[in-house]
Amino acid sequence: MTISLHNKQLLKKNTKDVLTIGRYFRKKFGETIYKVPISISGFTCPNIDGTVARGGCSFCENDSFSPNLQEKKPKFKLNPRVKENPYLDNQLKQLELQFNATKSVLKNKFNAQKYMVYFQSFTNTYAPLETLKALYLKALSFDNVIGISIGTRTDCMTDEILDFLEELAKEKEIWVEYGVQSFYDETLVKINRGDNSATIKKWITKTKQRGLNVCAHLIYGLPNETQEMMLNTLEQTIALDVDSIKFHPLYVVKNTLLTNEYNKGEFTPISEELYIDTVVKSIKRLPENISVQRITAGINDDTLLAPLWCKNKHNQIEKIKKALLKENLKY
Ligand code: SF4
Repeated sequence: MTISLHNKQLLKKNTKDVLTIGRYFRKKFGETIYKVPISISGFTCPNIDGTVARGGCSFCENDSFSPNLQEKKPKFKLNPRVKENPYLDNQLKQLELQFNATKSVLKNKFNAQKYMVYFQSFTNTYAPLETLKALYLKALSFDNVIGISIGTRTDCMTDEILDFLEELAKEKEIWVEYGVQSFYDETLVKINRGDNSATIKKWITKTKQRGLNVCAHLIYGLPNETQEMMLNTLEQTIALDVDSIKFHPLYVVKNTLLTNEYNKGEFTPISEELYIDTVVKSIKRLPENISVQRITAGINDDTLLAPLWCKNKHNQIEKIKKALLKENLKY
């Protein structure tokens, strides 16, 4: 009994907290910050609308594969070349409605007090600058919002948008979330990413030079990638001095380009063991200042084709936490 208590104390003493984004925010703001995901209709992506490619990234579920959905949805889609955005008022209302709805859920469930608005769906800098300004300013005007996080692609960032975000960052917490996925150009071509490692490096560097916070999204299990390649992508991401990382496993959902490859036997999903091992190795390599925003992802409905271990995200998180504890890391 005494020995076991001693061991427990020793373990506790040697265990280090992983810098999760929750810990990062609590340290910076003295309380928990709740992210409120927002999806504004009318936004799309240059990889879907034909500007860069059609069909989107091979894992992306989008309207290109659902003609029925396409017919029901409004035809109007934004891009930076649109002269006028006739739907801006609706989009601003939509933003407010979505924010208030999620805020009240978070308040009731967790007694949430402070929030960050997260522009999550599609490419949230792929619109005329005036539209972006109006949406970002509206989000920042809501009570108890400490900042915004903008999900986008590196080929959809511009110096003008960075100018504006740099101004906002003088008063508020501003994050840009870039989908990096891999630093191997052959992989990026294979997944129809429409972006390349040079552009990724260039815009992450520029964003960091403006003093903005950058979160990089990485995908493990991309076609033909070995663990060495995944960890090399991580090293290159760390070298860009990003502030945070989100790790995702690649899974196949119906109605995507990847479905065809999977059905033809041309794509084998990553195993759960390899994914967990790679995430643990990645977190061990992170410098102390880089936070972790996500360690896995999953989808618990019948659109998931493979791997089936991605059905239960909760289960995965527990397994990864356990594997990290073995390395004396507490997630
Ligand atoms: S960049 Fe994002 S929205 Fe665009 S196709 Fe890829 S996953 Fe889909």
